[in-house]
Formats: sequence, structure tokens, C-alpha cells
Amino acid sequence: MNSSASVSLPILLLLAALSSAQAYDFFYFVLQWPGSYCDTKQSCCYPTSGKPAADFGIHGLWPNNNDGSYPSNCDPSSGFDKSKVRGLLSSLQSNWPTLACPSNDGTNFWAHEWEKHGTCAESVFNEYSYFKTALDLKSSLNLLQSLQSAGIQPDGGYYGLKSIKDAIEQGTGYTPYIECNVDGSGNSQLYQVYLCVDSSGSQLIECPIFPRGKCNSQIEFPMF
Ligand code: AMP
Ligand code: AMP
Repeated sequence: MNSSASVSLPILLLLAALSSAQAYDFFYFVLQWPGSYCDTKQSCCYPTSGKPAADFGIHGLWPNNNDGSYPSNCDPSSGFDKSKVRGLLSSLQSNWPTLACPSNDGTNFWAHEWEKHGTCAESVFNEYSYFKTALDLKSSLNLLQSLQSAGIQPDGGYYGLKSIKDAIEQGTGYTPYIECNVDGSGNSQLYQVYLCVDSSGSQLIECPIFPRGKCNSQIEFPMF
């Protein structure tokens, strides 16, 4: 009996299953304080829709591996198509604001995030659900509120890194990673907050691994 067909079919099915399986372990959901993007040497440009609210904005939802590595630019055939997020545009402008120069409407930033990161999670998201999931996560988090409830305000003052982490943990239930950058005078400041989301994109989890980096033990929370 010719066994080639009976062997190759299961193998083909296995390969098909593997090729559609997700190639990452979890997501980083990264929020950014606009004041800390703008007060650096590089400076910033407000989007054409106007100065964003004094609130954390979304940077991205990034597939990541438990060993710290991450996939990127996974599907060049799936370029950002603005028409697919037509219903989300005003929410994207408010909650996922571009600060890059020259001033633009945000399409470049959203396209970069979808193409570099979103296309690596096409096993769970299409373009619309990728952006919708991130927007829903942001509104469920109320990060600024968590900080303000602990007396931590974007007032240009200095706060303990530990008190910032504790306030976010208190508010969200999960341990954040805090990324710092430096203002125009070289002071360490609160730049981005990372929380982790399970591989299906449905709930926050404790981070399997934190990015590397260092903040001072007291960091600035600049105004915006
Ligand atoms: P990523 O490639 O997703 O890790 O994001 C890093 C890129 O996003 C860099 O090119 C940054 O300059 C850019 N970026 C970060 N924040 C913003 C923002 N608010 N608006 C526009 N570009 C940004
Ligand atoms: P370290 O102070 O670098 O020894 O870190 C002590 C713990 O805090 C480790 O679990 C780190 O992963 C974590 N950690 C260090 N820096 C940060 C940060 N900026 N945000 C959140 N967690 C951090």
C-alpha cells in the first residue's frame, strides 16, 4: 500500500496549525505620558487635531516573548488601512495621539504600530480589533486616576518610583514596569508605563518578564 498520502496529510495539517499559531507569549500594553515625550531635547509636535488631553496616551500593544525577545513586522502584505478603523478615528485621536514632528493626524504612528507590532498578533486580532482592544484597555485602566488617588500629580514634582509603582498596582491590580527618560536638563522622569496582557488580548496578567532599564529612585512627573 502506498503510504505517502496517509503520512503527508497529517503533516500538512500540523504545519497549517503551526503556521497560524501565535508566535508570542503575551503583550506589553504601553502607555505614555505626553509631557515626558515633549519636554526632552527632541521636543514634539501636537497633532493637527490639537493639543492632546493631559492624560496618558497609548503607545502600543506589543506582542512579546517570555524570554524578552519579540516579533516585529510580521505581515508586509497587511499594510495599515485607515478605512478599517474609520469608526475609531476620533477615539484614536484622543487616546492614541501622535506627538511626532512634523505635525500630522496620527496616521503615521498608528500605521507604524499596526505594521510593526499588530501584524504579529494576526492570530487573535484584525486591524480593527487590535486598535479597539487597546482603546478599551486604556479606558478600563484609568491610570492617571490611580496616581492622583495616591497624591501623585503631573505637577513637575518628584515622586518615589516605588510610590508610583504601588499606586498603579493599587489601582489596576497588577505590577507595572516604569520606563523613564530624561527632560531637557537631564532629570529622570516618568515616561511610559507597561502592563501585561495575556496572549489572547483579553485580560491583564502579571508580566512574565520586565524590560530592562533604570529610573532614579525619585522621578519627575512633568506637567503637560
Ligand atoms: P516602537 O517602534 O513601537 O517601539 O515605537 C518607537 C517609535 O515610536 C519611535 O520611532 C518613537 O519615536 C515613536 N513614538 C513614540 N511615541 C510616539 C508618539 N506619541 N507619537 C509618534 N511617534 C511616537
Ligand atoms: P532593581 O531596583 O533594578 O533591583 O529592581 C528590583 C525589582 O523592581 C525587580 O523586580 C525589577 O524588575 C523591578 N524594577 C526595576 N526597575 C523597575 C521599573 N522602572 N519599573 C518597574 N519595575 C522595575
